[in-house]
Amino acid sequence: MTSKNVDAVVIGAGPNGLAAAITLQLAGISVLVIERNEKVGGGLRTAELTLPGFKHDVCSAVHPLAIASPFFKKLPLSDYGLEFIQPTISAAHPFDDGKAVTLERSLIDTADSLGHDRDAYLNLMSPTVGNWDELIKDILSPLKMPGHPIELLRFGLTALRSAQDVSGKFTTQKARGLWAGMAAHSIQPFQKLTTSAAAMVLLAAGHKGGWPIAKGGSQSIADALAGHFIALGGKIETGIEIKSLADIPPTKVVLFDLTPRQILNIAGEDLSAFYKWQLNRYQSGSGVFKIDWALSEPAPFTAPACKSAGTIHLGNSFEEISLSEEQVSKGIYPAKPFVLFTQPSVFDCSRAPVSKHTAWAYCHVPFGSTIDMTAQIENQVERFAPGFKEVILAKSTMNTLQLEQYNPNYIGGDINGGAFDITQLFSRPALRFSPYRTSSRKFYICSSSTPPGGGVHGMCGYYAAKRALKDIFGLQAIAI
Ligand SMILES: Cc1cc2nc3c(=O)[nH]c(=O)nc-3n(C[C@H](O)[C@H](O)[C@H](O)COP(=O)(O)OP(=O)(O)OC[C@H]3O[C@@H](n4cnc5c(N)ncnc54)[C@H](O)[C@@H]3O)c2cc1C
Repeated sequence: MTSKNVDAVVIGAGPNGLAAAITLQLAGISVLVIERNEKVGGGLRTAELTLPGFKHDVCSAVHPLAIASPFFKKLPLSDYGLEFIQPTISAAHPFDDGKAVTLERSLIDTADSLGHDRDAYLNLMSPTVGNWDELIKDILSPLKMPGHPIELLRFGLTALRSAQDVSGKFTTQKARGLWAGMAAHSIQPFQKLTTSAAAMVLLAAGHKGGWPIAKGGSQSIADALAGHFIALGGKIETGIEIKSLADIPPTKVVLFDLTPRQILNIAGEDLSAFYKWQLNRYQSGSGVFKIDWALSEPAPFTAPACKSAGTIHLGNSFEEISLSEEQVSKGIYPAKPFVLFTQPSVFDCSRAPVSKHTAWAYCHVPFGSTIDMTAQIENQVERFAPGFKEVILAKSTMNTLQLEQYNPNYIGGDINGGAFDITQLFSRPALRFSPYRTSSRKFYICSSSTPPGGGVHGMCGYYAAKRALKDIFGLQAIAI
């Protein structure tokens, strides 16, 4: 057990734990971060998973939410080595006919490429894109009086609808495919309410800030956050797993960058029976099966646009992607899963030895799955990039249980810290005045199991620390 004398302890050094720690330290509170892994980062680690010199993002790879984060924007992260690289095209979506639709930085260019759906796309996206800088502060926040109620209401009227419903605005294969690839990030069947939210946010983020990757790998975002925190006087101890309350050094407040199940295991004895009942009802989402490849050359996509895109959505039509998401939710393994594919080394030569490449992909699978989806994923890549299998030098895979062993926050392979459905959108992890408070006055939750949920943006951490600062120390957090 560590024995530092500090005002606050943060357990877990993921983006939200580090964001919480920085927010507290900026307010003059002394903070110790305790991390189970030897490296900080949580979902932000980069490692040589295949061959020497090939650097793979173990979890998150593409960062539209990090670059949009109102909290990260306030931090001098470039002083600590963080550099975002913008791929030429944010995202591409190929079809069986060899053509592709692309998410361009320009809203007009993207709309122009959609033929008959040009105006439908502009009508759908213009209000969100036009008000993005104000809206994103309300979107990436807990349920509260919005700063921009009219704009948020307008966004919400579409975002809260099902992706299936909103897809009715489009008639072309291109627009429907683009919409499906974005909505699938919600990891739910398209008939569910709120599945349009992920699509709206990712499309607007693409038009405003792009879908960047971090130079050198996602680890550099974590390293910059940690570097800034340490420069502020914060302390980090790695390689220490907190298993019980006895492992936590004496302090005034503890913030858990963990999911409800882990908090129940560690601190259950200090929580009320009702709150424990609430946490036990919290639902995990589906899992993911992840692959990283070392390649002798970039994936040979047929559609030229895919060669210039950082992220490629592989699933062909709206109908195919919708079926794949529905099957996963029913515990069925899709023969043609929707695949998220990224190719960071095409834009960042530090990721692989000279003239060699890396690629990263995952598909959604049922919660807790141990089925190997390598063949299904590689077949989907091969379908749009014939010859892909011949350029593979080595690969590394993780099923949902291996993901959970790597990071216990990814329960059953759920990468969002809990299902992101209508019931858990704002009330994650429990319906309370503040979702960051627990039933113990000393414990707070700051992970993606709190609003605004999964993704690398640090906003859960910021808002949890803001709450704790006010409750425990009577202090204000930095304004964002
Ligand atoms: C395969 C995959 C791909 C993803 N892709 C993207 C993407 O491209 N873009 C994006 O924005 N998001 C992506 N995500 C999601 C993103 O990584 C997460 O939403 C984000 O990391 C959540 O941050 P967090 O701080 O809440 O938790 P985490 O990042 O999970 O951090 C929690 C930390 O707590 C530590 N910990 C756990 N238990 C203990 C304990 N008992 N004691 C001490 N420490 C402990 C863990 O080791 C970890 O470091 C992806 C996730 C995965 C798994």
